[in-house]
Amino acid sequence: MMATRVFFVGAGPGDPELLTIKAKSIIEQADVIIYADSLINPEVCSFARKGAEIHRSASLNLQEITEIIVNAVEQDKLVVRLQSGDPSIYGAIREQMSVLDEKGIEYDVIPGVSSLFAAASALKRELTVPEVSQTVIVTRMEGRTPVPKLEKLESLAKHQSTMAIFLSMSLIDRVVSALLKGGYTARTPAAIVYKASWKDEAVITTDLEHLCKRAAEMGIKKQALILIGNFLSQEAGDQRSKLYHKEFEHGFRQSA
Ligand code: SAH
Repeated sequence: MMATRVFFVGAGPGDPELLTIKAKSIIEQADVIIYADSLINPEVCSFARKGAEIHRSASLNLQEITEIIVNAVEQDKLVVRLQSGDPSIYGAIREQMSVLDEKGIEYDVIPGVSSLFAAASALKRELTVPEVSQTVIVTRMEGRTPVPKLEKLESLAKHQSTMAIFLSMSLIDRVVSALLKGGYTARTPAAIVYKASWKDEAVITTDLEHLCKRAAEMGIKKQALILIGNFLSQEAGDQRSKLYHKEFEHGFRQSA
């Protein structure tokens, strides 16, 4: 029998087939499942065994969620807390873990496919393109949740690297003006991926100047990632990596 009774599990971006085998197997064994119905595809819970208790967390506060977990553990039940995408990105798991730490309850984390990667797949793009950008900045616009002073969107934009902006669709006007102030131009390629990997996934590719208008036309207000940078440009798409160029030598391959 498993010693750990609580698992924070990455549920992936939406498509149940993007669950890891490990995640599926733990969902199948769970007695109690708590999931954020706002972002997680309910089909993921179809792997649960008959009789498993399933809680939707959208209407629950932190205390109510941890109470469910603690009560279940006291009854020696196996608890799965499903997180959208990967739990380590805007998962708010730290607060839940601290409560469990205080009570001496052990837990494990099972990673998942972040929506960032499902979005890159939808765009059929590599986030890191040689000579274009070798850095991905994962961030959000400051809203009700504050962002540390050194991480304001405007200053991050100065790097001109690939940017993935979470949780910011409702603030898209402010996102675009911060990026323009930071040094991206009206022509910088920009994309929005709505519900990456879901059946109703939608993709917008445009430039910064037209981003807000296109999002408004499509009526996209949430459950979307904003991606910015020259990795989306035509040239980046055409570029052939030097790694595979026949005259390029590296540690594993000698050129002929
Ligand atoms: N841990 C999650 C992110 C949770 S924060 C992950 O790794 O993906 C919630 C934000 O993630 C949303 O506001 C949106 O910006 C993004 N998001 C989550 N699922 C998404 C999806 N399927 N498609 C596009 N964006 C998504």
